[in-house]
Amino acid sequence: MVRSVIIIIAGFLSLTLVAQKNQELRIEPPFWWTGFQHPELQLLVHATNISATTVAISYPGVEVISIESVENPNYLFINLLITPEAKSGKFPIRFMKEKAVVKEYIYELRQRDLSRKDHRGFDASDVIYLLMPDRFANGDTTNDNLPGMKEPVNRVNPNGRHGGDIKGITDHLGYLEDLGVTALWINPLLENNMEKYSYHGYSTTDYYKIDLRFGTNEDYVALADSIHNRGMKLIMDMIFNHCGSFHWWMNDLPSSDWINEWPEFTRTSYRAGTVSDPYASGFDSIKFVKGWFDQTMPDLNQHNSYLKNYLIQNSIWWTEFAHLDGIRQDTHPYPFKDMMAEWGKRMKDEYPHFNIVGECWMAYPSTVAYWQQDAPNKDGYNSYLPSVFDFPMYDALRDAFTQPEGWNTGILHLYEVLSQDGSYPNPMNIVTFADNHDVNRYLKTQQNDVRNLKMAMAFILTTRGIPQIFYGTEMLMTTGEDEGHGALRQDVPGGWPGDLQDAFTDKGRTPEQQDMYTYLQTILQWRKDNPVIHSGQLRHYIPQDGVYVYFRHNETDTVMVVINKNDEIKALDTSRFSDFLGSHSIGTEIITGLQINQLNTITLAPKSVKIIEINHKSIK
Ligand code: CA
Repeated sequence: MVRSVIIIIAGFLSLTLVAQKNQELRIEPPFWWTGFQHPELQLLVHATNISATTVAISYPGVEVISIESVENPNYLFINLLITPEAKSGKFPIRFMKEKAVVKEYIYELRQRDLSRKDHRGFDASDVIYLLMPDRFANGDTTNDNLPGMKEPVNRVNPNGRHGGDIKGITDHLGYLEDLGVTALWINPLLENNMEKYSYHGYSTTDYYKIDLRFGTNEDYVALADSIHNRGMKLIMDMIFNHCGSFHWWMNDLPSSDWINEWPEFTRTSYRAGTVSDPYASGFDSIKFVKGWFDQTMPDLNQHNSYLKNYLIQNSIWWTEFAHLDGIRQDTHPYPFKDMMAEWGKRMKDEYPHFNIVGECWMAYPSTVAYWQQDAPNKDGYNSYLPSVFDFPMYDALRDAFTQPEGWNTGILHLYEVLSQDGSYPNPMNIVTFADNHDVNRYLKTQQNDVRNLKMAMAFILTTRGIPQIFYGTEMLMTTGEDEGHGALRQDVPGGWPGDLQDAFTDKGRTPEQQDMYTYLQTILQWRKDNPVIHSGQLRHYIPQDGVYVYFRHNETDTVMVVINKNDEIKALDTSRFSDFLGSHSIGTEIITGLQINQLNTITLAPKSVKIIEINHKSIK
């Protein structure tokens, strides 16, 4: 570990010398908008010895507050005030030496289009589909290998790039709409010009550029428009904790405190609970937040005020540029939490209806809830993070259908996790899931018992919260992280020219895949138009004999959900549920479409779920 750090430092010095000879002028954000609540804009300027120049800006409504230099003479930070009088347009930023212009950048201010109904946020009326762009579909093989990009495509290597791209996603939006999902969370698309493992996207090398192997920035905006035209939403994956070791600034850091440096490589403990732990030692707290996520992922110091502004502005830039509906923030507790709260507040100020979900990977509702906006934390911390992932429920789902029922085992875990929802300021705005790109696929954890997968999907699609489904669930993918993360993130059959199977089509799916696809599609399409499942009250009953019953209800509708985890038929006596069933005796089961004429006793197939609409109007 020590050796690799020395190599990185040695490489860093030699690259610095090369870079200083021949640097292009770089300004970020590359352009901006008029009309934000927050009028200040900080430009990062990078070019050889740029701090030796004076800066001239003259544009009506734009005031230069200050120009700041830092340790590295190759940087300047220009603080601007974009007053309400500033109109959209272009103006030169001139860098002068002895009255001569040595560099010039034409800066653009765009007009925010507030007539668009963008930035709607996502909520429990949505179902999020998570996909990994390198592994979903290769719509353009001409971008697979590009000059200047370090890692070429190698589809044989599970950890290599496979060639999926934005075109591949765009080509399959109809598939996703037919399936019935309403929001896409796409794993990171920003440039990852790394030598290895560049496919997963979590090693950013340019915060303002979509990786050209996925497409261009304009392709991403066009994708967002296509998603919106179908009434769907786009959630961007962002990473503030770390960048990739081949990020352009790693060759020429603005200052020594830009990243959190250690005498030798020091890995984070990954123990996110240390942030809210009242007994955490100083050693553990520092190691968690300043330790590196990986050797190739330098840990950013968000306490550097320039970097803090950089990340916040970058997030606003993408939200405005690509008309985002929401953000998924990677490793949310790992950056400094005060900066993350400031970011959340800024996003809320600029986009009041927006939603952000943070990856706060902890086992208990109390520790996860610490991170949800307005949590009554004893240390006074308010994250301004609207949503969190329900990792405790994810854990409970792993053994709910496989463990034998006991006093504290089996399906009772689902009930117990929900019973702790008092911890969350807003439990309706948390994201439920059975698996994602970092963990074994749910089907694998259930010894490939599709009935368990169906129960899990029916559960997350009908309990409280915002459901998230991992791509390939509908195709019965069953890969695991024990085969490596690369293998877990399997290619969709049919996404590549020449694939022997095309699981995107009815004809291309096996009968088993078609059965799962139809099962999910039926619930998803029904769910879209049923506000009772989005926002209705939840009331549940203590599981008995491996059968869990709950109701979602509002003023007009009541839905009863019954999960039988037993591998045998059960006859459910419903007298316990008279509060909701009352005199109602008829219901419609939405998965089969069959009417149930007698609700006094409900017959439950082995390992199955019934979702029953209790139709008030039909009851005489
Ligand atoms: Ca491609």
